[in-house]
Formats: sequence, C-alpha cells, structure tokens
Amino acid sequence: MKKKRSWAEPYKIKMVEHIALPDYEQRLKYIEEAAYNTFLLRSKDVYIDLLTDSGTSAMSDRQWARLMIGDEAYAGSKDFYQLEETVRQYYGYSYVVPTHQGRAAEHIISKILIKAGDFVPGNMYFTTTRLHQELAGGTFVDVIVDQAHDPDSDYPFKGNVDLQKLESLILEQGADHIPYFSIATTVNMAGGQPISLANLRAVRALSRKYGIPIVHDMTRVAENAYMIQQQEPGYAHKSIAEIVREICDLTDAATMSAKKDPLVNIGGFLALNDADLFEEARNLVVVYEGLHTYGGMAGRDMGALAVGIEESVSDEHMKARVGQVQYLGNQLLSAGIPIVKPIGTHGVFLNAARFLPHVPQDHFPAQALAAELYVDSAVRAMERGIVSAGRNKQTGEHNYPKLELVRLTIPRRVYTQSHMDVVAESVERVYDNRDRILGLTMTFEPRYLRFFQARFEKIRAEANAQRSARKREPVAN
Ligand SMILES: *Cc1c(COP(=O)(O)O)cnc(C)c1O
Repeated sequence: MKKKRSWAEPYKIKMVEHIALPDYEQRLKYIEEAAYNTFLLRSKDVYIDLLTDSGTSAMSDRQWARLMIGDEAYAGSKDFYQLEETVRQYYGYSYVVPTHQGRAAEHIISKILIKAGDFVPGNMYFTTTRLHQELAGGTFVDVIVDQAHDPDSDYPFKGNVDLQKLESLILEQGADHIPYFSIATTVNMAGGQPISLANLRAVRALSRKYGIPIVHDMTRVAENAYMIQQQEPGYAHKSIAEIVREICDLTDAATMSAKKDPLVNIGGFLALNDADLFEEARNLVVVYEGLHTYGGMAGRDMGALAVGIEESVSDEHMKARVGQVQYLGNQLLSAGIPIVKPIGTHGVFLNAARFLPHVPQDHFPAQALAAELYVDSAVRAMERGIVSAGRNKQTGEHNYPKLELVRLTIPRRVYTQSHMDVVAESVERVYDNRDRILGLTMTFEPRYLRFFQARFEKIRAEANAQRSARKREPVAN
C-alpha cells in the first residue's frame, strides 16, 4: 500500500503575533457596530482575518533585514535602482514608475491612454481598475469567457478572453476607440482564475492585428504562472520564473499591486516598455504620488519589494501558497459547501447564491453571509457580489452580477493549516444553520467603491425569525 506523504510549508516561524477569539455576545455587538460590513470591523476583534490577501502577507527575514538598510534619499535612492533592476530581470519591462499601490498605477495609465468615449475591454472587471477607466472617460467592456460567470463550471482557465467578444467589440467601435486591452493575471473577481498562455498569445495576435496595446494587471502573475505550470500542456517542466517572464513578454505595460504576489505590506508600480509613455507617466507621478524614484514608497519598502519579487516566483513558495488555498477549498468541497470551482489561487469563494437561495440578490446575500460567518467564529471574509459590483454608470441601478460570492482570502505565509481547519468547520456550521440568514438592507451608500464603507441593517420584517435564531447555541466560543 502506498503510504501518505504530506507536504509542509517551506519556512519556519521566527516571530509570532497573538490573536484572540472574542466571545459570542461580543461578536454580535461588534458586527452590529460595524453595520454588517466586515470592512468596518476592528482588526483586534477578528480571530482569523481572511478579508484580503492585500498587504497582509508575512515578510521574510531577508525582507525585514532590507528595511534596516533602506536608502531614504528623496531622489535617486539605491532601493529604487534595485527595484528597477529586479523588475527588469523577473518581469522584463524596461521602465518602472513606483506608486504607493496598484490603483495609483491604474490611475496614471488610465489618464494617459483613455479618451472620453473610449471602450476598454478586459477579462472581467476589477473594482479599482474599472473605476479609474471610467473616471478617465472610458467604458469597461467585459470580454471574459462565459464560463467565468458560471461558478459551477470546472473550466481550468476561466481567466481566458473570449476572442470573438473581443474582436466584435473592435469591429463595432473601431480600433481608434479602444486604447488598450486590460488583461489581468489571475482574475480576482472570477475567483482567482488563471488565463492560459495559449489564450494570451491569441489575444496578442489580435493586439498586433489591430495595433492595440495590452496593459497587464500583473497583481497575481506568479500565481497565474503556477496554474499554467500545473495545468497547461507543455509547461510542467518550466519554472514559475520562466512562465512569469513569458506572460509579461506578451504585454506592453503593467500595473502592479505589490501588496499581493510580491509579499510586501504596501507598494506598487507602473511598468512600461514604451519610452514616450514612460515620460508621460513620470510627469504624472510627480503630481499624484511623489518623485519618480519613490512614487509614494519609502526607500526601505522598495528594497523589501525587490526581495519579495524574487521570493514570489520561487516554485517552493508558490506550491505551498496555492496548496494552502486548495487545502481549505477541498475541505469545503468534501463537506458539500457550494464554492466556486475550480478552487482559485488566492482564496476560496463561497457561492452565496447557492448557499442562501432563499435570499434575493437585493437583500445582499453575500454581505449577510460574511456577517454571519463573523458571528460564528470571528473569521472575517469579504463580500464580492452585488455590493462590490456597484451601480450602472448610466441608469444608476444596481449592477446585478451573476456571481454573488463571499471571498475567504488567504494571506501569504501567515496562517497554518490548523487555522484553515477552524475556518472550514465554521463555514460548515453556518451552512447547517443557513435557513436563519434573512438578508440585509443598505442604510448608507458611499458614492465610490461602496463596498468599503456601506452600512446595513438586518431586515426588520423578519424580526421574529431573527429573534428565535439568536437563541441558538453559538459555536466557537
Ligand atoms: C488589489 C488589486 C488591484 C488594486 O491594487 P491596490 O494595491 O489595492 O490599489 C488591482 N487589480 C487587482 C486584480 C487587484 O487584486
């Protein structure tokens, strides 16, 4: 009989940060004070924080050591040149403009390339990416494959572009009205789903045919490369570093949120191959971010980022990173919990529409489910459904996305597999009691990116059912 051989994290723990589980009454109070929005909870009241993988990674001892030798010169910091060299080496782009985080790079590139009335096709929207495209006068057009909108489809490359949708848009609007293709690796809103190299090559062919550049949202490019290595024919023997380079080489410019793949707590950059665009970006970065050799980042943070980029493309690191996400996802699958398939690279996405079929989308099922999960175990997740999708720019109505999800996002190198067990057990418990979850009404709605600060109340018409639900035994207390 074949003996089981386990894998383990390729690191050991050198420093710990204590966390605590508030009791049941406290959890009820905290979520009510946070108006059922997990973004408004205080971190000290959270036990296991799966709100986001953004800026929440654990840095390595090598990265911490770099902080101590950061060069904080206003101009020409050695850390900037180190970062520039690292970006050239691992990603292949010629020019780098540092920014305080990803959305600042999106802001700058959108301002430079988009004219009023333009259309920007992309493999599904991302909240900040689309907003900056719209603020610059553009209209985002989703050209991702249909499978990406179907949480039950097992299609391995749900991040792929539907080439027919893309070419139809070009023919309808004319190449002059399409400033660039916005291509993300991996696709966050679809559930952390990868694009294949075969598809990206086909997108590149259209980009050449019509003379339209590709702007790469490279936030999770190494995670995407890992999925290509695991699943795309012909890549099993290539390293993640090689695949990352192959992806980047098929694109013209890139925006990076360094808070994801590259293992730092803050930072980002815009990378470019075109010298004229680089000049324009350097002009804008001094207006909005800072001098072109720091762009809103401290020198030490650029140093830690350079080390983080190198660590992020390691095969061992990525195997453990995605392996942990898959460990959690597989536990939920075997418990019969409806999650987005295939399991993505940065988190497990609960399918709130199937989890709570009795809650209509206007009553914010994913928002309600995330709140309920907090009440059960002080695990913090995030809504990725109708609240995140915002309103239609023209009609002012809610956008009704097909995907109504709760994202359990796993920070890199932070939690152990026991934490994942606690999370899985809590989701199962909430699933067993799902009938008592009745949905929410929105009582405050911010104008931009409403999911961050919106406030909610439990639905009053169901007050009786709600009262009896509260009498039930709490769980992880
Ligand atoms: C996080 C993220 C961004 C924005 O980056 P910030 O650093 O949060 O400003 C853009 N695109 C994707 C896919 C992201 O996940």
